[in-house]
Formats: sequence, C-alpha cells, structure tokens
Amino acid sequence: MTREELFARDGWRCVYCGAVQPAEALSVDHVHPRVKGGDHSSGNLVTACIACNSRKGGRSLARFLADEPDARAHFEALAVHVWPRHRKALRELVAGELRRERHV
Ligand SMILES: [Zn+2]
Repeated sequence: MTREELFARDGWRCVYCGAVQPAEALSVDHVHPRVKGGDHSSGNLVTACIACNSRKGGRSLARFLADEPDARAHFEALAVHVWPRHRKALRELVAGELRRERHV
C-alpha cells in the first residue's frame, strides 16, 4: 500500500486529532512499531498528521494515547482499519500505562 492509498483509505484524516489535511501535511504511522517487529501491511498503518506525529515524538503509541485522552478517543473512533489484534494489544498497553501512572 502506497502512502497515497493509505491516506485515501483514511479519508486524509489524522487518526489522532481527527483533522482532514492535505497529503503534504500527513505522514504514515505504525501501530505496532517497526523496531518491535511491526510490518508495513495495511492493518498496521494509520494516517497521522505531521503535527501529531511530531508531538508524539519519541513516546510509544500507548504512552502517547495514555497521555492524550483526545487522541485516544479519535484513535478509537477512526483507526477502524487497524487489525483487531493490534487494537486489542494497544488498548491493553494503554491500560497498563494508565495503571502505572496511578501507582507512581
Ligand atoms: Zn493530527
């Protein structure tokens, strides 16, 4: 799947802020990170605007979604093409991050 195909699938809408943006303002994000074995298949990719992607910075996706409830809500509503097993694993990681927070 090319970048353009991915953006078209997601309606040029960032899964983290929900804004529709031109392709130049968009980037590709991996749900399961490549460094942890995530692949480049369509069920592991989402459209993210460059602003959200750079705000996410070096945080894991789970940490980012734990930190930002709005991004979490948008992701839940918009990342419908992400494989269910990735969505489930991510939800568990986010829950873990939130639990850890309460115990610190
Ligand atoms: Zn965004």
